[in-house]
Amino acid sequence: MTSKISLAHGRDYLAIPGPSVIPDAVLQAMHRPSPNIYAGELVEMMPALTEDLRRVAGTRHDVAIYIANGHGAWEGALSNVIAPGETILAPASGRFTHGWAEMARAIGAEVELIDFGTSSPWDFDRIAEALKADTDHRIKGVLAVHVDTSSSIRNDIPALRDLLDELGHPALLMADCIASLGCDRFEMDAWGVDVMVAACQKGLMVPAGVSFVFFNDKAKAKRALMPRVSGYWDWQPRAEPDWFYQYFGGTAPTHHIYGLRAALDMIHTEGLEHVWARHERLAEAVWAACETWAEGGALHLNVSDRAHRSRAVTALRLTEGRGTPLRNYTESNLGLTLGIGLGMVCEDSYFRLGHMGHLNGQMVMGMLGGVETAMAALNIPRGAGALEAAAAALADKD
Ligand SMILES: *Cc1c(COP(=O)(O)O)cnc(C)c1O
Repeated sequence: MTSKISLAHGRDYLAIPGPSVIPDAVLQAMHRPSPNIYAGELVEMMPALTEDLRRVAGTRHDVAIYIANGHGAWEGALSNVIAPGETILAPASGRFTHGWAEMARAIGAEVELIDFGTSSPWDFDRIAEALKADTDHRIKGVLAVHVDTSSSIRNDIPALRDLLDELGHPALLMADCIASLGCDRFEMDAWGVDVMVAACQKGLMVPAGVSFVFFNDKAKAKRALMPRVSGYWDWQPRAEPDWFYQYFGGTAPTHHIYGLRAALDMIHTEGLEHVWARHERLAEAVWAACETWAEGGALHLNVSDRAHRSRAVTALRLTEGRGTPLRNYTESNLGLTLGIGLGMVCEDSYFRLGHMGHLNGQMVMGMLGGVETAMAALNIPRGAGALEAAAAALADKD
């Protein structure tokens, strides 16, 4: 027995970069008995559901849905367009690019990885070098992680498209928007992205378990040339099903469909442009607080330039391995769970703030207040006025 009081009793706040906070409307939509999977409402929901998903992705092209997490969508995308022995180029700004590249290697691809470290965006000169050296076009796909959730780097996808076009390189531009979709602006068709992977548990606000591969006609043409495609991951019948069963290659993820329907309604009712603008404003509040704390010398934003920061997640480093103690403090004393350091040399020094999906101004202020409280309790040196700076970022725009 301890006599110490805890301030953790109350509504917990999971502020990690996925899974994100699930809206009550999504939870309520999922709370139902199993529906008929052969006829009726569930079957009739699918055309509008896929249409609304395509609107979030900014594409008029196809989407295949998998009962899988993001790793499944990674494999689904690769399986349809990259044959054993073919090469992919992977410009890496963090752990997740390495993960996708490892999966490519596992299906027999040759991997050309350019490692930009854990706090720098792509260097287009080095990507250009690799593409120019590939005179016989062995590279069939470029694995482009939009927001790398481990580093919180946001990469410039349109600039990568421009580079491929400028060099006349025919490789497919394959984007991972698992962390960014529904948070950071992304427009698949306007940006010339050929394949895009996403999952439902981050900006889409649904429990983990469903993921997506969007693909255009160029990717479809490459799929048609494949010597073989794994039956389960084949995107063709999922995107153009003859009957309901084929959407999911078997039994549908019934409850996820209802949850996703509710989440898409929320996104489109707010308006995608407004969803992006909300994430931008909330991220500016997070950055304002973190930049102020950083003046004390103990805390560092992993990405120094705002132009390269994600609006969905912020990776931070504390000196002397104090990231883990800070997370432990907020979780056990305040009911606030922060993200662990991932893919870093000293992971205990790092922590991440998730600010994706279903969150508003008071949640972000609460999260930042929790961090401020933990820093005070742990005597971590910090600049004064971080919460005031965050409030000003939220307040002074209109
Ligand atoms: C979360 C994430 C993944 C992995 O998704 P899982 O659902 O955990 O398999 C891959 N890429 C990025 C950018 C992510 O944020």
